[in-house]
Amino acid sequence: MTTADGVPATSSLASVEAGIVRACRDARRERCSVTLVAVSKTFDTDAIAPVIAAGQRVFGENRVQEAKGKWPALMAKHPGIALHLIGPLQSNKAREAVALFDAIHSVDRPSICGALATEIARQNRRPNLFVQINTGEEPQKAGIAPADADDFIARCRDTYGLTIAGLMCIPPVDDAPAPHFALAAKIARRNGLTQLSMGMSADFAVAIALGATHVRVGSAIFGTR
Ligand SMILES: *Cc1c(COP(=O)(O)O)cnc(C)c1O
Repeated sequence: MTTADGVPATSSLASVEAGIVRACRDARRERCSVTLVAVSKTFDTDAIAPVIAAGQRVFGENRVQEAKGKWPALMAKHPGIALHLIGPLQSNKAREAVALFDAIHSVDRPSICGALATEIARQNRRPNLFVQINTGEEPQKAGIAPADADDFIARCRDTYGLTIAGLMCIPPVDDAPAPHFALAAKIARRNGLTQLSMGMSADFAVAIALGATHVRVGSAIFGTR
């Protein structure tokens, strides 16, 4: 099986894995401190199956609806898969999101916190939650402004009773990513949060150097979308 670019899925997954191993060694970190989230958005079951066969078990999707269409069948066939929601969540999709996903990387407003708290209690499921920080303060981008992050994180805990595991960020496309990763790491540290979802195909090594615990890698594994 090959990726959209004609590269065998197993070899592109292996090169990403080698890159993560190298970045961990350079940063004097254990390989097991970084989770590779293979971002399979837009790719169908036929493209995903060889990546599962190659041993990958953690996958990321950015739309609840798309994930619902693809993953239940794959998960029934392959036990032990963890699915992460990396894209925006609407309150009216919270029920489906809590039912399907093991982690949600896009907690970014009070209405979502309320909807998640309700569903977590109702379904007795506890997805790993990340607050998305808009480190570049881009008006069109989701996420909490850095200046509001401490208050929002406190509100997640105190008002909604949510356990927040960490922070997620997506640096602006035209910026060097390192200062954005460093800012997210700093906000996490002062709020006692241990997990950092940051780094994509082009910059996961930089993110690992700055403390990423979850790298979200799509095109380097599956090919161009
Ligand atoms: C698509 C996407 C990714 C993966 O991006 P690549 O550049 O293909 O690795 C990571 N994070 C988020 C939030 C995404 O939407």
